[in-house]
Amino acid sequence: MVSRVIPVNAFDLVLFGATGDLARRKILPGLFHRYEVGQMPEEARIIGSARTELSTEAFRADVRQAIEEFTPETPTRAAVLERFLLKLDYVAVDARGDAGWQALAAMLRPDVVRAFYLSVGPSLFAGIARQLDCHGMATPEARIVVEKPFGRDLETARALNAGLRACFEEHQIYRIDHYLGKETVQNLMALRFANSLFEPLWNATHIDHVQITVAESLGIEGREAYYDQSGAMRDMVQNHLVQLLCLTAMEPPSKFTPNAVRDEKVKVIEALDPVPPGDIARGQYRADKGGDGYLDHVGDAQSRTESFIALKVHVANWRWAGVPFYLRTGKRLRARVSEIVVQFRDPPHSIFPNVGPIHGNKLIIRLQPDEGITLRTTIKDPGPGGFRLAEVPLDMSFAEALGGDVRPQDAYERLVMDVIRGDQTLFMRGDEAEAAWAWVDPIIAEWEKNRDRPYPYDQGSSGPEEALMLLHRDGRRWRQIGG
Ligand code: NAP
Repeated sequence: MVSRVIPVNAFDLVLFGATGDLARRKILPGLFHRYEVGQMPEEARIIGSARTELSTEAFRADVRQAIEEFTPETPTRAAVLERFLLKLDYVAVDARGDAGWQALAAMLRPDVVRAFYLSVGPSLFAGIARQLDCHGMATPEARIVVEKPFGRDLETARALNAGLRACFEEHQIYRIDHYLGKETVQNLMALRFANSLFEPLWNATHIDHVQITVAESLGIEGREAYYDQSGAMRDMVQNHLVQLLCLTAMEPPSKFTPNAVRDEKVKVIEALDPVPPGDIARGQYRADKGGDGYLDHVGDAQSRTESFIALKVHVANWRWAGVPFYLRTGKRLRARVSEIVVQFRDPPHSIFPNVGPIHGNKLIIRLQPDEGITLRTTIKDPGPGGFRLAEVPLDMSFAEALGGDVRPQDAYERLVMDVIRGDQTLFMRGDEAEAAWAWVDPIIAEWEKNRDRPYPYDQGSSGPEEALMLLHRDGRRWRQIGG
C-alpha cells in the first residue's frame, strides 16, 4: 500500500519558541519531513520567533543543526535541507513587550494561510494572542496553535480559554494533544466506524474491561520543577489518557467532522463517574542501586507528587454500564509502551473437554513502539496428538502494511498539516479541556485534602503493588508492560 501525499495550500507559519526544545526536536523536523515528501509547497514560509536576537542566517544554522540531529540521514537529505532552509525567516519578539511585533506583521502575506504556533509556556498564550490582535495579525481566517499543558485545573483552563477567545474564535484555536496525531489513534476510529465487525460487540454485553497504559522508561529529567508541580494525573491523565478513553468509549458521530467527533468526546468526559480514593493507586519511584529516586530528582524529600498513577474509571452510560476502564501511566517503568487493550468476555460455555479455561479475545491497539493493532484469538494448536488450544495474534503492524520503506509520520507532522488544512478534528475543543479538568479537579482535591503520600515503587517495575491489586481484587490482571 502506498500512502498518498496531497500538498497543502501556501502558508505563513509563525513559530513562537522557535529556538526551544520542542520546536527543535519535533516541530521543525516535522515540517522538514513534510517538505521532503512534497506536502509543504514551495510557496510556504516559516517565520521563527523568540526573545533572543538572531539573524535569519543564524536561525537557519540552528535549524540545520536541529534537523541533522533529529532526522535520519538519507541520500537526499542534505540537498532538500538547503532548499528547506530558504523558507525560513526569523524575527525577535518578546511576548511580554512591544518590540518586534510590527516587523512581524510586515512579514506576513495577506493571501496565504496564516498560522501562529505557540511553542512557549502557557503563561505567554494570552499576551501573544493580544499582541497579534493589536497589530492586525489575528485575521478571521488565521489559526492559533497552543501546546500543553492547557492549565493546571479548571480555573486556569478557563482563564486560558478566555485569553485566547478574546482575540480568536473557537474555530481558529488548535489545542494540541499530540497523542491524537498518532496513526493508530485515528485507526481506532477507522477500526470502529469503518468496519462492521467490531462495533456491534463494542459494549458491556461483550467487553469485560478496557486497559489504557502509557508507560515511560525515562524519569523526569530536565523537567523536575514543572513535573513536581504537576504529577502524572495533570501531566498525562487529564489530557492523553482521557483522550484515548474518549476515542475508545465514544458513540459513533453522525459524520466525521471536527465538531461531531468532539461533541461525542465531551459526552464521554461528562459521563465519567467521580473516582473514589480506593480506586486509585499513586506511586513515586524510589532510589535504587542504579541511582536516585523521585524525591532526589526534585530535591524535596517531602514531595507528595505522583510519578505513577493507576485508576479504575467508569463511564456511566448505557453502553458501558459495569465495564471498568483501568488507566495507568508512570515514569521509570519497565518499558516505554502506550497501548489500549480491549478485553472481550470469555466464551459463555466451553465445548472442549480437558483444555482448561478459554479466555476472551483481546484487541490490542499499540500507539508506541511499533504502532499497530493485534487481535488475540484462540485456535487449535496445530499438529496431531490430541485437541489443544493456543492463543495466537492476528497482527497488523502499520509499518508492514504500508510497505517496509514508508517512514511512519510523526504525530506533530500530521497535526501541523491539519492546522494548515483547517481541520480541527484531532485537536481539543475548549469545552473538552474544561470538562476533563472538571472531572480531574475533585480527584486531586481529595488526595491533597488527606495529604496522601504516593506508594514507592522500584524503577524498571510495573509500578507499585497497589496498582496490581486494583485489578487483582476484581479477578483481573494488567497486561504486562512491554509484554
Ligand atoms: P523551552 O525549551 O524552554 O523553549 C521555550 C521557547 O520560548 C524558547 O524558544 C524561548 O526563547 C521562547 N520564549 C521564552 N520566553 C519568551 C518570551 N517572553 N517571549 C518570546 N519567546 C519566549 O520549552 P519547550 O520544551 O520547547 O516547550 C515549549 C512549550 O511546549 C511549553 O509550553 C511546554 O510545556 C510544551 N511542551 C513541550 C514538550 C517537549 O517535549 N519539550 C512536550 C509537550 C509540550 P527565548 O528564551 O530566546 O525567548
